Amino acid sequence: MKEEVKNLKQEGINPGLAVVIVGDDPASRVYVNSKKKACEEIGIYSEEYALSAKTTQDELLELINMLNEKKDISGILVQLPLPEHIDEEIIINAINPKKDVDAFHPVNVGKIMFGNYDFVPCTPAGVMELIKESGIEVAGKECVIIGRSNIVGKPQAMLLLHENGTVTICHSKTKNLAETVKRADIVVAAVGKPEMITGDMIKEGAVVIDVGINRLENKKLVGDVHFESAEKVASAITPVPGGVGPMTIAMLMKNTVKAARINRES
Ligand code: NAD
Repeated sequence: MKEEVKNLKQEGINPGLAVVIVGDDPASRVYVNSKKKACEEIGIYSEEYALSAKTTQDELLELINMLNEKKDISGILVQLPLPEHIDEEIIINAINPKKDVDAFHPVNVGKIMFGNYDFVPCTPAGVMELIKESGIEVAGKECVIIGRSNIVGKPQAMLLLHENGTVTICHSKTKNLAETVKRADIVVAAVGKPEMITGDMIKEGAVVIDVGINRLENKKLVGDVHFESAEKVASAITPVPGGVGPMTIAMLMKNTVKAARINRES
């Protein structure tokens, strides 16, 4: 990415990311700091807008409108979750789709369905990059995703489908979770329940990708997969921390660079 940013700047294109955080959620603060640090590391200009938890929806919309017009900003990221009095959907819809580096705007979500997209949500994109870089073939494979959120599970399913995987999405109402996961050649866990996917649920030789980030009472970070037991049966597995987390940030940088090109052209 560093090399790409350098080349971009030589073409006279300067990528810029605006990160907006409302309130003082400690996890959000950690994520925002990592995003800013990644920008610094690879030479992307960034601006942070840290707003108080009392910020009104109208005030936030005003900021988004300003950033939509701001010439040195190519990507806008509003860190979720927002305080309860702010409607996330209204805020996401207000972001210019060409600056929507999280790919949460309905226009970008729709494009992902068609398979013709500019931006892909960072976490599922990071998962795909890990699969690709590890030389794992998706076509024809049984892919089981656990979790159906708009930011991970659903777009992940589309991306695996575009690579010709046979995709199953499991969720909180799935009746035969262990049985379904056992069929999978590729498992993507995005539930938010510490270590719920255990080694006995995994098929011998399966690829296991753990999106979950859960902090236990003793402050230890663990994924949705029980690493020690799953590692014994998997042919490849991602750790937590590490694995998908850093990839998410790398994909955000990739989307910001892409946004800089798109906004320059438009
Ligand atoms: P979410 O809470 O929006 O969705 C969780 C999903 O899990 C839901 O669709 C629900 O149906 C499903 N689920 C709940 N209980 C289940 C059960 N018993 N069996 C099967 N499915 C069940 O969560 P999210 O935003 O998709 O995040 C999931 C996890 O991934 C969280 O731990 C989150 O912190 C982590 N996350 C990590 C990154 C990263 O960068 N690595 C990014 C986003 C989210």
